Amino acid sequence: MPLKLGLVGIGKIARDQHIPALAADPRFELVACASRNARVDGVANFADIETLLAEVRQLDAISICTPPQAHFEAALAALRAGKHVMLEKPPAATTRQIALLQAEAARHGCTLFQTWHSRFAAGVDTAREWLRGRTLSGGSITWKEDVHHWHPGQQWIWEPGGLGVFDPGINALSLLTEVLSDEVFVHQAVLDFPENQQAPIAARLSLRTAAGVTVNAEFDFRQKGEQTWDIALVTTSGRLRLSRGGGVLEIDDRPLGADDALAGEYPRLYARFAELCAAGESEVDWRPFQLVADAFLVGERRIVAAHQV
Ligand code: NAP
Repeated sequence: MPLKLGLVGIGKIARDQHIPALAADPRFELVACASRNARVDGVANFADIETLLAEVRQLDAISICTPPQAHFEAALAALRAGKHVMLEKPPAATTRQIALLQAEAARHGCTLFQTWHSRFAAGVDTAREWLRGRTLSGGSITWKEDVHHWHPGQQWIWEPGGLGVFDPGINALSLLTEVLSDEVFVHQAVLDFPENQQAPIAARLSLRTAAGVTVNAEFDFRQKGEQTWDIALVTTSGRLRLSRGGGVLEIDDRPLGADDALAGEYPRLYARFAELCAAGESEVDWRPFQLVADAFLVGERRIVAAHQV
């Protein structure tokens, strides 16, 4: 029997990735949606998750695709109703909210899958295996994209809790924390805030391992022309480059396969969600979100030119 699933927050990622991935996966049946303004053909539609949970009797799981500021209330309502929950990245608006959701999932015997879609990109597993046992000597992250192209009209990104350039940048941090055996922390950060917005448009982070190795990260939302989502890691016995958001892997300049990153990620995400639900397990890792929170804590704040959404 497929898991009957409700989708919450019907916007770009729900339509581009979640709905097609669900339609192609026999382990799920999309039965309902909750969105204040949007509707999805062929399923029951509700304005909010509370009504969905109250009205749809046959429901096993909820997948939440709203912006992070709305994740906590939606996930809490679903878990308290005894539903398994899959949560888009970034996981929440504050770090403690994630801990509370994790405890709530355990209390109700539900699965909480707090996702990092980039970790399901094609090159990631091989990258992690290759790095295991090698000694890191340095690295860099370059995550530069045009916010007008990728986040058209999304005012929430610029509001408190929207994370600004860390909304894509956290994907790089989710990859780094997944493939590296060493833990990293934020040593220094500089955050550029547009004078008219509440979230940074660019950021530069100096990350360090406990062994004192530096990985520098540059995030920028003002990129025109070629878009870059690259991680380059140097070890004492070779170099690795994960590009296109984790979809393309090169080791010592030798390509090791490629995939259109996002296209493969979401089917794999739902496959993992089905596995976790069947096993009665949760998967939660908020280290990428802690790194972002720490960048806000220690980051030097610079005011830059106004940005129109
Ligand atoms: P989006 O296009 O703005 O869609 C989100 C939808 O959530 C909105 O259309 C809105 O629909 C609903 N919503 C509920 N509460 C909201 C609130 N307080 N403010 C704004 N909208 C609210 O955003 P998205 O690009 O799909 O991103 C959603 C989440 O997915 C984010 O956490 C993002 O990081 C993640 N994500 C996005 C991408 C991408 O390429 N866009 C990729 C991977 C992950 P109603 O008005 O109908 O309620």
